Amino acid sequence: MGEQPLSRRSPFVKPSPLQARLLLELVDVASRCYQRGWAHGTAGNFSLRGSDGLIWQSPTGLCKGELSPHAFIPVCIETGRAVSAEPMRPSGEMAVHLGIYRFTKAAGCVVHAHSPKVVARSVAGEPMVFRGHEMQKHLGCEHHLEELRIPVISNPKSMVGFDCEVSCHLDEKVPLVVLAGHGAYVWGKTPLAALSFLEALEFLCATT
Ligand SMILES: [Zn+2]
Repeated sequence: MGEQPLSRRSPFVKPSPLQARLLLELVDVASRCYQRGWAHGTAGNFSLRGSDGLIWQSPTGLCKGELSPHAFIPVCIETGRAVSAEPMRPSGEMAVHLGIYRFTKAAGCVVHAHSPKVVARSVAGEPMVFRGHEMQKHLGCEHHLEELRIPVISNPKSMVGFDCEVSCHLDEKVPLVVLAGHGAYVWGKTPLAALSFLEALEFLCATT
């Protein structure tokens, strides 16, 4: 992928200065996921909420350790269609991102990776329930004795129409959802906030 400025690739759509800064942060978060072995091959997908009902979605088929802000594709949240001619297609798992953005305004960005402890723990398809862990406070619990329940939903054979289905399983109080045997989708105000939630869940899965 070339290093053309966004204003040349997408003449009618470009991120605001704040979004441009957050795209750089998202590239850094994607690289960290790759370096940790949470996004092997071309796995993992990442997006940022833009202006006017758009998101900036990572493309399919690229190593997430080598993304650049220019690679992100502007997509309409409502229709799921790219709003400008792009050389790359958006991630094949974008349906989950769209479902999350439609569900909650708290999603400023969405991070998805195949962190191994989460994947292993989720294979059975049962909700992940934690109690008694200090780390739960990082995922919305007021104290460690509160029950934290992370939704785990079946990994669909096809993502067609999954954007409408996924929101039925989301919980406004818990910024994560897991696809069984696949990985977690995490949202936050910023990419680093979302990454910290994924780190917390990976830690809980590693220590229980
Ligand atoms: Zn995936």
